[in-house]
Amino acid sequence: MEGDQYSLAKQELRRQVVIIGSGPAGLTAAIYTGRANLNPLLIDAPTDAEKQTTPGGQLMITTEVENYPGFSQGVQGPDLMVEFRKQAERFGTEFLEEWITQVDLSERPFTLVTDNSIIKAETLIIASGASAKWLGVPGEAKTPKGFGGNGVSACATCDGPLPAFRNKRLVVVGGGDTAMEEATFLTRYASRVYVVHRRDKLRASKIMQEKAFRNEKIEFIWDAEVAEILGTQEHGVTGVRIRNTVDEEHFTLDCEGVFIAIGHKPNTDLFKGQLEMDEVGYIKTSHRTTATNIPGVFACGDVQDSVYRQAVTAAGTGCMAALDAERFLDHLPVAMPTGEEVTIEGEHLSPDHLKITLPSGEVVLNQPE
Ligand code: NDP
Repeated sequence: MEGDQYSLAKQELRRQVVIIGSGPAGLTAAIYTGRANLNPLLIDAPTDAEKQTTPGGQLMITTEVENYPGFSQGVQGPDLMVEFRKQAERFGTEFLEEWITQVDLSERPFTLVTDNSIIKAETLIIASGASAKWLGVPGEAKTPKGFGGNGVSACATCDGPLPAFRNKRLVVVGGGDTAMEEATFLTRYASRVYVVHRRDKLRASKIMQEKAFRNEKIEFIWDAEVAEILGTQEHGVTGVRIRNTVDEEHFTLDCEGVFIAIGHKPNTDLFKGQLEMDEVGYIKTSHRTTATNIPGVFACGDVQDSVYRQAVTAAGTGCMAALDAERFLDHLPVAMPTGEEVTIEGEHLSPDHLKITLPSGEVVLNQPE
């Protein structure tokens, strides 16, 4: 990116640590790097009803969180995020609510461009999360427009154990591993779980399918799409209207809860072509650390995790990203996805720790003189 292509009116900010995203991962990274006196700048998208963005991440659209450790009586998702944010503020985090329009990771400091600012970052922590995919059918929107949060959820682990779903008939939409996992999990609480899938074959892995087929509480409704979620604001969900994808017939299935499990989309469009990702778009990290393929760029939380996706695991990897960034800024080696370790000076330490490749290309032995 050429420097002079940006408007001169933009403010230029230079920071040691820039964090993108204000969910549990981003705010934990902010707490740690703040306490390390690195004055992190945390950038997050402004609230936008149309684009369905809310600073604070997915917990902002959850009600009660019962499984975040430290809250024996549970906590409301938005209240938890207010506490995360206050804690990050307490240690000097600076917040910027602006849309990032361009990112250049080809050289350090990395460049981020927003409508009003050009930000230069020595290290970048990406915690932009993932968004659950929704069907887009009537009745699915957040209450009071629909029944989202009042019987409709995209997270069985988060909401399944709530009293509203106990001994109730629940619908899970989808045919992948997530749908099988959520349906199996929900049978602990529900009286019956209907898996509604749009084809007559599942996408899920064999082992997950068989687990679901063996479970007597699960019933499959094949070649079926949810056309509408029915209910009242007073009683929540009362059923779903189903369209058979083969004969186009419609029928109503009575239920008290609907879990949409049709996949997630990591928020990584900005980094496409610059960072290594899997086929779905999750950022690849080293796993031993949060390092991406670009030294100095770290990823944490749901943006790099398609498996666990919990607030507590996001916070855990946020802490790891902060410690990795601190280490990198302290000129210490950080393990990369290749197994090599890399320093801020561009020295590459071989996975067996025997050789160092210097930025000049010269290879030296990693031994005391
Ligand atoms: P997938 O993309 O694998 O599956 C999504 C499912 O939802 C598919 O069956 C798809 O139908 C259906 N679907 C998508 N869009 C719609 C729609 N608009 N209307 C109706 N149905 C729709 O997503 P998952 O979240 O299940 O899995 C993502 C990745 O995470 C996978 O690689 C999976 O293996 C992994 N994973 C692993 C787990 C584990 O091993 N424990 C647990 C959870 C996930 P169709 O099949 O017709 O395309």
